[in-house]
Parts: sequence; C-alpha cells; structure tokens
Amino acid sequence: MVKYIRKSKEWGRGAAWLARRSVTPVAASSNLVVPASEESGRKVPILFFNSRFRETGGKCQMREGFYTWRYKLVAEKLSKVLEKNGFEVHLADSKEQLLEILNSLIPENSVVTNGGSVSLQENGVIDFLRSGKFQFLDRLKAQTLEERLEIEGKAFSCDYYLSGVNAITEKGELVFMDGNGNRVAAVVYGPKNVILVASVNKVVKDVEEARERIRQITPMNSKRLNLKTPCAVTGYCSDCSSEERICNLFVVVEKSLRKKGRIKIILLTYESGF
Ligand code: SF4
Repeated sequence: MVKYIRKSKEWGRGAAWLARRSVTPVAASSNLVVPASEESGRKVPILFFNSRFRETGGKCQMREGFYTWRYKLVAEKLSKVLEKNGFEVHLADSKEQLLEILNSLIPENSVVTNGGSVSLQENGVIDFLRSGKFQFLDRLKAQTLEERLEIEGKAFSCDYYLSGVNAITEKGELVFMDGNGNRVAAVVYGPKNVILVASVNKVVKDVEEARERIRQITPMNSKRLNLKTPCAVTGYCSDCSSEERICNLFVVVEKSLRKKGRIKIILLTYESGF
C-alpha cells in the first residue's frame, strides 16, 4: 500500500495524520521522500509532496535545480565546441529567452519555414512564426500532400529555416534521422540561414550513442505522427521494414566551416522535445 501526503502550507497536517496512525517515517523532507514506516504492524511506503512540488506539475524542484545547473554547464562547454565547428551558438534559459533570441535573429518580413520538431511546437516557436511578422510558409496548414510538397520545395530558397535536431555529440556534431529527407536536405543545403533549437538533454557522447538515442526516442515520434510502424504499438524499435518507417536517412553534420554561422544553434538549458 502506498500513502500520499500532500503537504501544502500546513506541513503539520501531514505530521498529525501520521501521529494518528502511529506512523513514524524513517526520513522526511519538504520535497519527495519514500520512507519505510510501520502502520498496524505493516510496512507502508509514504510519499511526501509539498506545495512547490505540485506547482511544478509533479517535478521535484530540488532535483530540477541540480539538472538546471548541470544543463547550463553542459551548454556552456558544448557551445565552445560547436563554435569551433563553424556553428553560431546562443543559449536560452527559458522559452521567453528563446523567443527573444529568435526575434533578434530573424528580420521582419523574412521568408521563413520549418521542419518537424517537438521543441519548436512546445516552446511556442510555431505560434511566433505565425505572428504575422514574417512570410511564413506554414507546412502544418497544408491541406493536401501536393500543397505540403510545394512548401517543402520552397524551403530551399527561404531566408530562415527552423528545425530541431535529434542529437548533438560532445564533439559538436549534429545528428539527424529523417523519414523523407526534406528536413535534412534543407539543413545541409539551400536556405540562407538555418536555426536549430535543441535542448541539452539531446547531448550524447558520440555518433553511435546518437544512433542509440534515436532508436529509443523514435517510437514516441512514430506514435505522435500516428504512423503505421511496429514501434508506434510496442514502444520499441524493431528495425522495421514498414512503408511508413521514419528512420530512413541518418545524417551527421560535422562542421560548417565553408559557411560559418549559416547554421545557428539555440541550446536550451532546460529539458524540451524528445
Ligand atoms: S526503424 Fe521502424 S521500428 Fe525502429 S524506430 Fe524506426 S520506424 Fe520505429
């Protein structure tokens, strides 16, 4: 049996609840603890939540603080490596900061479009592009396959192409896996500027680890896109031969030294995307 005690302002209420039941937790914290306790002679795991825990949507704030600290260090170190590889790098600590950076990078009336990316969607970037400030080629609003293909074709001559990236190695290599190739093609060649938005939770040791990460994550993308692939049912990659397989094009961008700064990377120092 698991007991949940939600401690709001009155931590004492939780203590009183325990006292009434003669329960003595082994340990207690204002964040999250799972102590072993006695209740009527039985072992009872007890979970303590405080009000801040609930305010953060169930994430432990103390734990989050350490992750934020570590993510910032990772981002700062990685940004130097990426810059040496010819990429322009910006760090964003919040969604608001990300939008501010985009606002400063993309001139008004620029022709912009994007590749598929959870990071762009969950950080409000798509809404920002739809604000009316830009000439946005909105592939998500395409009504037919022909319309979508036309927009994807125009991406090669746009001013700014925005996308996510599947993984970034500690050596500063950008790793992508695509189903159709429109995204990797546009990142590699065509648009005058490419802006990649990526959280540091996508940083991996090397290309092999990137491949493994992608195998772990792709089932969620298959599910999100409602694809008819085995992983969208099982949650695991079985290296399928499905017609709707999205793991077709594995592309590594090592450096961009001939066109320094064409690819701009905004590293998010918080978790985002898959
Ligand atoms: S190879 Fe097939 S099963 Fe594996 S992640 Fe890609 S789409 Fe899913």
